[in-house]
Amino acid sequence: MNAPKLLLLPLSITLVLAACQKPGEPAKPAASAAPAATAALPPLAAFKTSDLDPGKNACSDFAGYVNGKWLAANPVPADKTSWGSFEMLDERSVAASRAIAEAAAADAKATGVAKLVGDLYATGMDTAKIEAAGAAPIQPMLARIDALKTPADIAAYLRDEFAAGRGEVFAFGAEADFKDSSRKIGYAFQSGLSLPERAYYLEDGPDGKYKAIREAFVKHVSRQLQNVGIAPAEADKQAADVLAFETRLARASLSPVELRDPNNQYHYVTMAEADKLTPHFPWSAFFQANGVQADGFSLSQPKFFAEFDKMLAEVPAAQWQAYLRLHLIDGMAPYLADKFNDERFDFYARTLRGQQEQKPRWKRVLDTVENTAGEALGQLYVKQYFPPQSKAQMQVLVDNLRQALKARLEALDWMSPETKAKAMEKWAGFTPKIGYPDKWRSWEGLTTGRESYVQNVLAAAKFNHAYDMAKIGKPVDRSEWGMSPQTVNAYYNPLMNEIVFPAAILQPPFFDPKADPALNYGGIGAVIGHEMLHGYDDQGSQFDARGNFNNWWTKADREGFQQRTARLVQQFNDYVAIDGLHVNGELTLGENIADLGGLNVAWDAYQKALKDAGKSGQDKVDGHPEDQRFFFNWATVWRRNFTPDELKVRLRTDPHAPANFRAIGAPSNMPAFAQAFGCKPGDAMVRPADKRVVIW
Ligand SMILES: [Zn+2]
Repeated sequence: MNAPKLLLLPLSITLVLAACQKPGEPAKPAASAAPAATAALPPLAAFKTSDLDPGKNACSDFAGYVNGKWLAANPVPADKTSWGSFEMLDERSVAASRAIAEAAAADAKATGVAKLVGDLYATGMDTAKIEAAGAAPIQPMLARIDALKTPADIAAYLRDEFAAGRGEVFAFGAEADFKDSSRKIGYAFQSGLSLPERAYYLEDGPDGKYKAIREAFVKHVSRQLQNVGIAPAEADKQAADVLAFETRLARASLSPVELRDPNNQYHYVTMAEADKLTPHFPWSAFFQANGVQADGFSLSQPKFFAEFDKMLAEVPAAQWQAYLRLHLIDGMAPYLADKFNDERFDFYARTLRGQQEQKPRWKRVLDTVENTAGEALGQLYVKQYFPPQSKAQMQVLVDNLRQALKARLEALDWMSPETKAKAMEKWAGFTPKIGYPDKWRSWEGLTTGRESYVQNVLAAAKFNHAYDMAKIGKPVDRSEWGMSPQTVNAYYNPLMNEIVFPAAILQPPFFDPKADPALNYGGIGAVIGHEMLHGYDDQGSQFDARGNFNNWWTKADREGFQQRTARLVQQFNDYVAIDGLHVNGELTLGENIADLGGLNVAWDAYQKALKDAGKSGQDKVDGHPEDQRFFFNWATVWRRNFTPDELKVRLRTDPHAPANFRAIGAPSNMPAFAQAFGCKPGDAMVRPADKRVVIW
């Protein structure tokens, strides 16, 4: 949980309960995969004409027309907090992963990545051994916390925790230097809160919700501390200390909206400057403990770190100990006996997000495999589940989308030729990645076995952290991936100016080699457009063709951009998601710019494909003109139910607007939509000309 992956801009986020380790990172083959039979997978999420609700009107309620019936018939399952097209495909990835992991676990002679996956899975499923161990695996760590007395002790403990791959209070990881994207530096980043964001500590929230969550949190902390043998009265006292500690940290933390500003993500300091800011936490010792040599790094939120330093000096050791204990136990809970994991589930999933039941054990163990060795699993996954011809077809689509974007950039009427030339330079610099890495990362040096789940997880966390740290000061490896191939998602990385599409998203409703072009352009076409447009959203547009944080805009053009984006902010601010709570147009601006531009680019590319085929878009497939099917599939991608609690957390933290507003937001700004459905001025899906937003 400690690598700041802030700059990846994924299409949609999946909020997994914070796990103790970092996601796997990318390089090279190993392993004889056990020859497993391809698993029978759960159903696809493809659009079907029978999903349409003839009782609804596309021009007034497009989301209801396409998704209403499906949403009513597909409530969130008890062991989930959301359910839609992404989750349905994710179930397929998970089923495939299970077959791979079970085969690897059953193969005593497995080597390389198959052994790694098999060891993690087999020990994770050995519940008898895990239950018998109780709290024993974390006792030595708890004993070390008990012995902390001085600020210097605490600083030393934190250094060692980071070196072991378990950071506390803040996050630290390697990422490309904003100002010189060809090399990696260290980034220290605000973190350390148990609740979703600062407001949960500092405000009462709608209907007193945050206050109630804080009260439930204190009870959770007390119970979790009692699970390691602390007496109830003492546990209650420590729980109150934990809340006080985190509240102070929250006060010094930036909000999710503030964190969107790249200026709030990057603050380069020399070692001497850093030490001056945090005199009780010498950074040179921290770097040394982590095996890194550097002249400087990004101390990304100076105010947060100044407060952290004051807390080292001022907060009594007992309060630090309570905080560190809780984070150790909650962080390790998924790998310990049920009482730890159940307690963690009860607060973070049930109370906070409305998840009624735990996922089955095997899915939770697969989450661990994904989080610790996702790319190792992916190496086995693509062999069996990714048809190579999909990659070739995707390349053609990506190319068509790129050409359509080029034409739109050239035709922009609000931008000076000067800025436009830079936008074109950026366009020429896009790197697409499709399916899986050309080069697999190496796991050489990581030793796992069949003895202990906790030992395997700790070994992997330490190994992954060292792998990350080794990149600091080195040139960026442009072949690296930030997501595993079995992830149903896609991303743009502004520091590499790259768009990335893992294998698992290349399925219906996104992509189907057998579907009509309208569906593919309205699905994966719009996703490709979306990812490219992140290069020109409120954040991405501050990075240049080489991925450097560098202003390439004239002042007047930037103002023109901001006038347009302000109107998009207003459009989304006006949407009411639940119980009178509005979407946050500022928090979701980047995604909404990407959706709007992406869908327009996809539409242009689709029109060109029709023209090349000598077609009009009026030919009917399954009873509907192809032009309508383009928008049907866009909405199908964005069908998703949430538990009310999950939706409320996301309104505060997720930079993506709730799915039903993504289904209608971009189309409501497109004359092409009105034309495809014969909508009239005044219809809800037709914004008046002076309210319509076109940015790219
Ligand atoms: Zn996005």
